[in-house]
Amino acid sequence: MNVGTAWHRASIDDQYDCIVVGSGMGGLATAACLSKAGQKVLVLEKHYTAGGFTHTFQRKGYEWDVGVHYIGEVHRKHSVMRRVFDYVSDGALQWSEMPPVYDRIYLGPDAYDYVAGPQQFKERMVSYFPKEERAIEQYVDMIRQVSRVSSGYFMEKTLPIWLSKILYNKLTRDYLKLAKRSTYDVLRSMTQDETLIAVLTGQWGDYGLPPKASSFAMHATVAKHFLAGGNYPVGGSSSIARTIEPVIQKSGGQVITNAGVEKVLIKDGRACGVLLENGREIRAKRVVSAIGISNSYSNLIESKSQEDNPYTYKEDCVSPSFSHVCLYIGIKANGAELGFDNANLWVYRDRDHDGNVQAFKNGTSKEFPIVYISFPSSKDPDWETNYPGRSTIEIVAPAPYEWFEPWKEKNWQKRGAEYNELKSSITERLLDALYEKLPQLKGKVDYTELSTPLSTEHFCSYSRGEIYGLDHTPERFEQRWLRARPSIKNLYFTGQDLVTCGVGGALSAGVLTSIAMLGPRKGMPLLQLMSPQKSKS
Ligand SMILES: Cc1cc2nc3c(=O)[nH]c(=O)nc-3n(C[C@H](O)[C@H](O)[C@H](O)COP(=O)(O)OP(=O)(O)OC[C@H]3O[C@@H](n4cnc5c(N)ncnc54)[C@H](O)[C@@H]3O)c2cc1C
Repeated sequence: MNVGTAWHRASIDDQYDCIVVGSGMGGLATAACLSKAGQKVLVLEKHYTAGGFTHTFQRKGYEWDVGVHYIGEVHRKHSVMRRVFDYVSDGALQWSEMPPVYDRIYLGPDAYDYVAGPQQFKERMVSYFPKEERAIEQYVDMIRQVSRVSSGYFMEKTLPIWLSKILYNKLTRDYLKLAKRSTYDVLRSMTQDETLIAVLTGQWGDYGLPPKASSFAMHATVAKHFLAGGNYPVGGSSSIARTIEPVIQKSGGQVITNAGVEKVLIKDGRACGVLLENGREIRAKRVVSAIGISNSYSNLIESKSQEDNPYTYKEDCVSPSFSHVCLYIGIKANGAELGFDNANLWVYRDRDHDGNVQAFKNGTSKEFPIVYISFPSSKDPDWETNYPGRSTIEIVAPAPYEWFEPWKEKNWQKRGAEYNELKSSITERLLDALYEKLPQLKGKVDYTELSTPLSTEHFCSYSRGEIYGLDHTPERFEQRWLRARPSIKNLYFTGQDLVTCGVGGALSAGVLTSIAMLGPRKGMPLLQLMSPQKSKS
């Protein structure tokens, strides 16, 4: 089931048009776009399988994704997201639409359903909050407004620095007006109903920050992304990398795994290749780092001058997103027998998202401020053929890196009894949260495995085990150095730090970086791809 060719089996050339470091959604999308423009691209991935957070793993007759529970918009054939996925996979990637209720928010015992479709969403919210109809209308208009003004802001990131100096204010002004405000601030200007605010921000786990800490632009991007409902890749999330790899191969490119990159080779201020951890040097006309912009500056670029490495000087303005644990569960029964309705469950003990996060962070409360429960096997129409009579569940919760830090030097699966005890106690707490909502599952769980921030560090190379790259605070959106073209020539960045977290964010980043590399003429098909079309479906 692994995607990509392992380094020891691969035959590597000495020269490529482009080397992409990291095979997550951002790296693969960039590689596919460049390949379609005729370039020979080498993708180098540290892990044993390609895909980054879209990869899957198997144990004991089960398979789990690690970072894809649902993706918005792709069921609408003319949406930008769908057209881009079709482009990078040559139409091979298929989608399965989730049922109309895609997210269910629990504030204590009270449940609130998110229903697919803007009108349906508004009607359901008004049924919960009849006095707030105006605020709900205004809210949906506002999240759509962010989407309308976002293209200039993100396109600016592709410009050469000299042109950005001229156009920055014009292109980013409208977006930044909203991005600089917190989610809570904007919502509070529409309603005084704190329960409504808590419900409308019930997906905050999708971008990692509660309402008072997150940028409204980030909130609006996610809320709008899912407004028409959720979808799941047919065959599971590894289908994403599996369907994109052949597109890269068509132009002579390769996706190579077990190929960690140590540094980007820079000569006379220009990137000219990479040095691998195994000591091999490979040359290319251009290098794209898709491992996260802050990670790129910390790990791959030796220069510490302010111009070549702005991150070192701006570290105080951005921080890594929260780290998490995920409980992977296997059950020997299919989802229908178990009574799953496939909606993702967001479980909160009450409406105070910010207060609960704060209490958890400063240790005054041990209760998880958020528990997210998802049913991946039930979302995949191919699952029953591949794994008959079985089901999977995933439960995600925040967990400070510091809890696990004492074992960071120890090897995976050899971290000792104390570490395993900590994992067992977290597993019990997460299972309790599951049984509270789905008591029929008691006694049915066949297999569990808990990942920790050290797993994220080990398998995805995020040094604090962070879930979404850099935090999506208002300050993040003001960082001009988070761009596709850094000052080092022939070096480019892509992935979730460039646009936003989320598979869609990383995918868009891949297209934007490719536009920056190809220029407006060769990049025209991509510019057209990113322009919204009137829906015909
Ligand atoms: C638990 C969880 C749930 C999520 N759920 C959803 C969801 O439901 N919907 C959604 O849209 N998004 C979701 N996301 C977010 C989404 O998965 C990510 O934002 C997105 O996939 C990031 O893509 P990327 O290409 O930027 O980075 P990554 O996927 O992190 O890819 C970076 C790659 O670079 C590799 N790498 C790092 N260092 C090196 C090196 N030195 N040499 C070679 N390779 C290297 C890494 O191994 C990795 O494969 C979730 C994320 C998590 C963690």
